[in-house]
Amino acid sequence: MTQQRRRKIIVVFHKKQPTMTLTEEILSQLPGDVLGGLRRADGILASLRDNITPVPMVVKENKQPLGTVDWDVVICGGTLGILIGCALALKGVRVALIERSILRGREQEWNISRKELDVFLQLGLLTDAELEIAIATDYPKARVSFLGGSEIWVEGVLNIGVDPVYLLETLKQKFLAAGGKLFENTPFAGVVVHPDGVMVEAGSRFKARLLIDAMGHLSPITQQVRQGQKPDGLCLVVGSCAQGFPENHYGDILSSFTPLQNQCQYFWEAFPARDGRTTYLFTYMDAHPQRLGLETLFEEYLRLMPEYQGVELNQLTFKRALFGFFPSYRHPLLTPWSRILPVGDSSGSQSPLSFGGFGAMVRHLQRLTFGIDSALQTDQLSAKALVLLQSYQPSLSVTWLFQRAMSVGVDQKIDPNQINQLLSAVFLEMQKLGEPVLKPFLQDVVQFPALTQTLLKTATAHPALVVKTMTQVGLGTLLDWMVHYGNLGVYSALFWLSQRVEPWVENLPRVPKYYCDRWIDSWKYGSGAE
Ligand SMILES: Cc1cc2nc3c(=O)[nH]c(=O)nc-3n(C[C@H](O)[C@H](O)[C@H](O)COP(=O)(O)OP(=O)(O)OC[C@H]3O[C@@H](n4cnc5c(N)ncnc54)[C@H](O)[C@@H]3O)c2cc1C
Repeated sequence: MTQQRRRKIIVVFHKKQPTMTLTEEILSQLPGDVLGGLRRADGILASLRDNITPVPMVVKENKQPLGTVDWDVVICGGTLGILIGCALALKGVRVALIERSILRGREQEWNISRKELDVFLQLGLLTDAELEIAIATDYPKARVSFLGGSEIWVEGVLNIGVDPVYLLETLKQKFLAAGGKLFENTPFAGVVVHPDGVMVEAGSRFKARLLIDAMGHLSPITQQVRQGQKPDGLCLVVGSCAQGFPENHYGDILSSFTPLQNQCQYFWEAFPARDGRTTYLFTYMDAHPQRLGLETLFEEYLRLMPEYQGVELNQLTFKRALFGFFPSYRHPLLTPWSRILPVGDSSGSQSPLSFGGFGAMVRHLQRLTFGIDSALQTDQLSAKALVLLQSYQPSLSVTWLFQRAMSVGVDQKIDPNQINQLLSAVFLEMQKLGEPVLKPFLQDVVQFPALTQTLLKTATAHPALVVKTMTQVGLGTLLDWMVHYGNLGVYSALFWLSQRVEPWVENLPRVPKYYCDRWIDSWKYGSGAE
């Protein structure tokens, strides 16, 4: 081959070699097929947006009695399922936990607030010493900041990193010691609901009185209930844990430093982690097919990282990449079948504003444990009885307006700084009102008095901004929100009243007590009084 021809081949080769994106470059350095995982998640997201996912038909009904059952409860899905499984097993409930792979917590810490973890002690799931080991990180304070606004610092909010590997392993051991049975590599395939029990198909058959669905937001049972309904909103999150950042012992709970880009307002979170610093970029949007996907958002994350953390990418050693999407629906999930109860992400009970599904489960753990145990003891396992365990929460539904106010329509034109201006104004007013207003909101807990004060203060101090935001979210969303806001007030009043009659409820016969307790729980959690 002549020298000239060889040179030509090399030139052609260089021309054909596509340039790697930052995402491809960084993710290809990590062990495992992380890039493939990101693209697979994008594929699932695209089919959700295009509404082409076939509706699974995994739940069937049979009018014949099932007869003797082997279990009180079969829990499908181990990640958060083990929390409720362990709590029920400790109460003497016969529990089988089926998990499609191996029950093991992810490496990345779950961030939560310290006080919320007390439930593990109260339910006897962890000892003080075990809880201290489960707490992998604890940092002093965190920042809330928006482009053009001032910084607000808070203490004790999402400042604890829980080690999922240790937590799940410890709960698994307690679960087994309490008589629970774990079936790994056992994927749920279907369930037949009989009048007196359920027959769960998962390779072998499990006969139980109740099925708890803890298979996450892509649970086939949830998909069957939703019947292909598109999510009303999505929260996309990408991030990483890396070493090499300038020393920083503080966190960011909610931070933005850019105007609207790609029709998205980008929000950032940062947490000191055990093996580096975790940073997340997340954004809210509707489920329109033209919206950006996770890989594009990852590219944005890497592009903006130097500006966010004051560090060049080549100074960082990436430990792992993180990503996910969270569909949310305006209306709570209403499971039509008896003897099936969704918990965790499958139940959609976390705030549409946060991707804190672990935190949401922990906040509801006591309510769910006592509620499920009581439902089993009183045999209240009909759809009507179980719906009270996953009931409507106005404290969650009101946050829909905030999600809308923090996102824009795919073709909507608004001032690119409007969301930053609104959030700066709202948080400034909340800060003036003090920690009892600011802190619960940042912990996904919305209460009527705090919300009312914040709205009044913001509307009085920034009327023009509020009018612009009302136009942005639209009349329909606003009217819908007013109903939930009214209900939040009603639930707060009902919860206050219920506390006056609680001693009387204690003396009721078991079945009416089941219903009264569940209603009181609904008012309590529905008014953000947990
Ligand atoms: C990047 C990222 C960061 C996050 N950070 C936080 C945080 O800091 N704090 C926080 O509170 N939350 C956080 N979350 C959210 C939290 O991780 C989820 O809310 C939580 O994992 C939900 O648990 P789940 O068990 O309900 O669902 P999943 O995590 O989806 O788990 C479902 C389980 O069911 C099993 N399963 C699925 N299908 C079947 C089947 N057919 N048969 C048997 N088993 C099955 C799965 O293997 C899995 O074990 C984060 C999420 C992401 C993506």
